[in-house]
Amino acid sequence: MKFYAIGGFKEVGKNMTAIEVNGEVVIFDMGVSMEHLIDLSARGLEYEKLDEQTLKSMNVLPNDTILSGKKVIAIVISHGHLDHVSAIPKLAKKYNCPILATPYTAEIIKRLLKDHNQDSQLKFLTTMQYGDTAELSKNFKIEYVNMTHSIPDSSLIAVYTSEGIVTVGYDYKLDNTPTLGDKPDYKRLKELGNEGVKLHISECVHIEDEQRTPSEKVARDMVYDAIDRAYLDSSAVFITSFASHIARIRSIVEANKGRRQIIVLGRSMNNYISAAKELGLIDTSKFQLYGMSRDVKSALENVKKNPEQYLVLSTGNQGEPNSVLSRIARKEQKFAFRKEDQVIFSSMVIPTPVNKANRYVIERNLKEQGVRILKDVHVSGHAMREDHRDLLRILNPDTVIPMHAETERLASFASLCEEEGFTIGDTVHIMTDGRYINIK
Ligand SMILES: [Zn+2]
Repeated sequence: MKFYAIGGFKEVGKNMTAIEVNGEVVIFDMGVSMEHLIDLSARGLEYEKLDEQTLKSMNVLPNDTILSGKKVIAIVISHGHLDHVSAIPKLAKKYNCPILATPYTAEIIKRLLKDHNQDSQLKFLTTMQYGDTAELSKNFKIEYVNMTHSIPDSSLIAVYTSEGIVTVGYDYKLDNTPTLGDKPDYKRLKELGNEGVKLHISECVHIEDEQRTPSEKVARDMVYDAIDRAYLDSSAVFITSFASHIARIRSIVEANKGRRQIIVLGRSMNNYISAAKELGLIDTSKFQLYGMSRDVKSALENVKKNPEQYLVLSTGNQGEPNSVLSRIARKEQKFAFRKEDQVIFSSMVIPTPVNKANRYVIERNLKEQGVRILKDVHVSGHAMREDHRDLLRILNPDTVIPMHAETERLASFASLCEEEGFTIGDTVHIMTDGRYINIK
């Protein structure tokens, strides 16, 4: 068995790996570098319009040349975050093979393909439910196992190969009280561990946090409290979060308890919420949703007349320059903040230089206008060190490969593996983009 580290071994994001058994290859995820994608749009360039080679040279896309000439039989997608799916419209067509994904993930991929005028690729999309298996060939069978993360329908993928089982664990947290969907399928995970896992591939975004990630239920309580307290003042209240975090958006809407009119603004909010509505994951009757910029403008004119009557949920949690919140903060919209208005960030800053710089700018702009900022009303969707230890003990793999981070965090994951009895260079491997390794 060969494991290919294609992207996600030098930075957080741009995730893409592959496994080869008997001359057949299966790819796992095709993501972009969010940092470079945001940088691209800040420079006025459009991802949709740029070609594969240009995007690779700009570090937006993973470089998959290591797979050229290989027989790729499927692209298997773990969940719908852009750093796991956004490269599909740029890279998938040359492989001409099925793309497997859970329903919400498939809905997002469908929209991405349509945005790139690739309707001809839709026929390759195969929707998988939890527990479903797909027999790809005599070398590969794929099973989707229920996992928890920060987007609906995220999964751990169990790959049955003729050389043993591989588990693909990106991205996940172990949330026993999720507010949307079921807790992880521990029964199935334990069975996999008992059957014998040859190779486990794991994300390691929060490996350096020495704790277990709190449940999304905790974030719901935080959101309820933040909104209750914000409403004590008759000011405008804005809240921003990740557009794909449907569980969080539901909590924000519920926390309002009918007290104010809720308007939801921004193109990506519109995209992800519409996809969730399609699958019955969110009730959109309690808020108004505006994605087009002219609709956003007129909605904000209404907010301007009676700010204390609205709760505005908008894009901009990372301070993205083109987001609704950033534009308001730069005074480019009809609505302008008044002193003592409140902005709740139901998110954390994804720690990349571009995000940190963008958040610095938006927070500075807001503070200059006297806005009260409430940060980190949030819990992470990523496993922390002790969650990773739990999963390693459940799956008990022969070999581990960490990914979805720069070398420092990969090494930190490897040190956790050492604590659990693995040996660096033998049963846990620190890899880099564009390399492969033979798994014994
Ligand atoms: Zn994710």
